[in-house]
Amino acid sequence: MKLTFLGTGTSCGVPVLGCQCPVCTSTDPHDRRLRCSALVETDTTRVLIDCGPDFREQMLKQPFRKIDGILVTHSHYDHVGGMDDLRPFCVFGDIDIYADHRAAENIRHNMPYCFVENKYPGVPKLNLMEVEPHKPFTIGDIMVTPIRVMHGHIPILGFRISQTTTPPKAHELSSLTYITDMKTISPDEIPYASGTDLLIVNALRFTKDHHSHLLVDEALDFSRKVSAPLTLLIHSCHDIGLHEEVNRRLPSNVRLAYDGEVFV
Ligand SMILES: [Zn+2]
Ligand SMILES: [Zn+2]
Ligand SMILES: [Zn+2]
Repeated sequence: MKLTFLGTGTSCGVPVLGCQCPVCTSTDPHDRRLRCSALVETDTTRVLIDCGPDFREQMLKQPFRKIDGILVTHSHYDHVGGMDDLRPFCVFGDIDIYADHRAAENIRHNMPYCFVENKYPGVPKLNLMEVEPHKPFTIGDIMVTPIRVMHGHIPILGFRISQTTTPPKAHELSSLTYITDMKTISPDEIPYASGTDLLIVNALRFTKDHHSHLLVDEALDFSRKVSAPLTLLIHSCHDIGLHEEVNRRLPSNVRLAYDGEVFV
């Protein structure tokens, strides 16, 4: 199983428009963060996690082939704002979108033209599949179990993802947990997030508490709770600091993800 980070930034991306801080003016490409999204791929299946407003830009760098399913964590614009740009991918057939009831309702509301009887020619052909926490489903040879996490007061989804077929080679990723935009999680959910090879979790910045996003220390606490052997932090804003300096401050089994990073 291969994971590609398409974007690792918070809702407004990094650099922030108009900002002249050292991170936003950094020449290190690791300090440029598009909105959060990732691709999970096996030899036969390709799953996208979230489809934000940078989707088009992100997919220009990837091979043009079928997307077998899209996992939606929640319906905030930075996670679903690129769904109209799925149009070119509909040459491979309709696209299945997996979202919880709340996110599915919001997608129907935001893109009504995709769900009417007589569609305008050329609109993206989307099948909304409503999923629930703890009820696993498969897309090709990828198994997904939704996890309930809280984004401030909004219940959203994280995903535990594993490959069902062809035992991965010794060095290959066999499972991962992807959680973004979390602030809190019930202890009952911890077992669903535990025991994967890789944890991906949001960390906005080091200081200044946020009502709906984890800070770095809170993300590190969560990583310890789920005993993650390796943790990668995403959904970071410019206040987190320079990529290289942040990584020096983190424990050896935790680091900041960056746009374009690939794990196999
Ligand atoms: Zn977000
Ligand atoms: Zn800045
Ligand atoms: Zn959000």
